[in-house]
Amino acid sequence: MSTVVETKEFQTEIRQLLDIVIHSLYTEREIFLRELISNAADAMEKMRYTQLTGPEVKDKDLAFEIHIDTDDKAHTLTITDTGIGMTKEELVENLGTIAHSGSKEFIKHLSTKGDQKDLNLIGQFGVGFYSSFMVADRVTLYTRSYQLEGESFVWESDGVGSYTITEGEDISRGTKMVLHLKEDAYDFAKEDTIQRVIKQYSSFVPYPISVNGQKVNAVDALWTKNKNEITDDEYNEFYKFIANAYDEPLFRLHFSSDAPLNINTLLFVPKENLEQFGFGRTEPGVNLYCKKVLIQEKSQVVLPEWLRFLRGVMDSEELPLNISRETMQDSALVSKLNKVVTSRFLKFLDDQATADPEKYKEFWGKFNFFLKEGAANDYTHRKEIVKLLRFESSNTKSEELVSLADYVGRMSDDQSAIYYVNGPTREGIESGPYLEVFREKGYEVIYTYAAIDDYIFGSLGEFEGKKLISADQTDLDLGNEQKDRSEQALPEEEVQALTAWLKEVLGSKVTEVRESKRLVDSPAVVLSPNGTNSMQRMMQLVNKDMNDLGPSVLEINAAHHMIKRLDAARKNEDTFAKVAAEQIFENAQIAAGLILDPRGMVKRLNEILERALG
Ligand code: ADP
Ligand code: MG
Repeated sequence: MSTVVETKEFQTEIRQLLDIVIHSLYTEREIFLRELISNAADAMEKMRYTQLTGPEVKDKDLAFEIHIDTDDKAHTLTITDTGIGMTKEELVENLGTIAHSGSKEFIKHLSTKGDQKDLNLIGQFGVGFYSSFMVADRVTLYTRSYQLEGESFVWESDGVGSYTITEGEDISRGTKMVLHLKEDAYDFAKEDTIQRVIKQYSSFVPYPISVNGQKVNAVDALWTKNKNEITDDEYNEFYKFIANAYDEPLFRLHFSSDAPLNINTLLFVPKENLEQFGFGRTEPGVNLYCKKVLIQEKSQVVLPEWLRFLRGVMDSEELPLNISRETMQDSALVSKLNKVVTSRFLKFLDDQATADPEKYKEFWGKFNFFLKEGAANDYTHRKEIVKLLRFESSNTKSEELVSLADYVGRMSDDQSAIYYVNGPTREGIESGPYLEVFREKGYEVIYTYAAIDDYIFGSLGEFEGKKLISADQTDLDLGNEQKDRSEQALPEEEVQALTAWLKEVLGSKVTEVRESKRLVDSPAVVLSPNGTNSMQRMMQLVNKDMNDLGPSVLEINAAHHMIKRLDAARKNEDTFAKVAAEQIFENAQIAAGLILDPRGMVKRLNEILERALG
């Protein structure tokens, strides 16, 4: 038989990844075995599922087992599975390219000299198949797809720039990988080394593993066992196995219930949020089982999308074994399962927040975005999620957090609403004009640093019967307890003349100029005529047009010396009054966090300086 050898180049990102794997990732090389065993187990899970629902397959009676063989003389390690195998197209697709765009982006930013943190991260998201090149200078992979029509192929590479694919002799369904070990990795051709590594990393693989014909693992569905029969170590090892992780989880929740549904669930919150590090969108990581049989891996439907950071398993006896991926989506049972487990998990977080606030804070720091996403989109669970939200406020120190319940609990008797204000930073908010009246009244104000916070508050409207009100809202009404007019303030007729004049000077930049009831120390403040400044800022970001701010409402502080001087200048028909008026207005816009075109302003500021310097 004449065999055709095809040589193909690895995709650029793979070459970079391989370079890092071979040259920089020395720590814990032995994890390569875990990656390969997990691929073998994945391939068998896929096979089992396909068989459950799908067509006739090749070698249908083949047992699901992983065989590992060591050859200390030839210095090879061989891993064989009876999974789905790969067609030629799949070999190219799966082993020659990186599909996930997030990982691709991430790798682009890495260099061989990438710092250790990057390297740890890349270890965490798993270099997967390519980790074999940490220990081998040549990898030969024999594979035969489960599809009846098809051939066997041999894939081979030295992990540098290219690989070859050759038609192979016919083999039974599955994949066999032969690792030709590097000299400094000869240890991995020793039986006891392999036994030890498997014990350490792969105890929970749900298929029998044998080394040189001897069975080594105990197949065990941990989540069906009694809680007090499981040690912390076992939980952690299970987490590492199921999440493909190298660290320990931040939280774990193991619970069983009989009503309203029979459920056995084991959920983990990882130590890190990879989305935060720019890995792109996290894929869901909870597997759905029925009586220990895997129904759906990394299910998209069994939990809400915003819980995609969770890792673990859900097992329910009530699920039909042959439920298909399509019907799962609209299954009433699955959505009930989803609801019950989500609520249970939210309650768990609430309990943790009380029991261990420091740890909850760590969780919040890393995963808050997911909860916010839920609070914004998930109407079913919104109420429960809102309780878990945390913010800084005018009552806290920097990085100290309050919940809405904390806030309501210490509201003063005359206060009827919950106030919040958006700004980029604590300093930005506190130096701005919006807090002044609240400070004077002694009302706490929540600081929101993210646009999504304002969106959540805006659409929520209220919490525990208290209205949620943005402190920069134009028609802010603090009840009959409004600030009294100061004795130092300009007389009301004069204020009227001044505001009318200002309206004329500022023209279409303002819809209204009026006396403020909220200012104490600032001369003026701008408000958005329809809604809040944060909304206006957001619109500005979306439009990306600095000159198109839209008009504002300008409020002036009639007791402020600067405003009084402005009024005097106006009355004297001093031409400088107009210049000052425009600058006061733009200063207020800047204090509101609106972005201005600086060019006109510099000219005006120079004019002002010249005059000030005499
Ligand atoms: P991941 O497992 O995270 O998808 P890997 O780099 O470990 O990434 O593997 C890449 C892909 O190669 C897998 O998704 C799978 O499609 C394929 N693959 C790897 N090993 C096997 C195997 N033993 N049997 C079948 N397919 C495999
Ligand atoms: Mg893998």
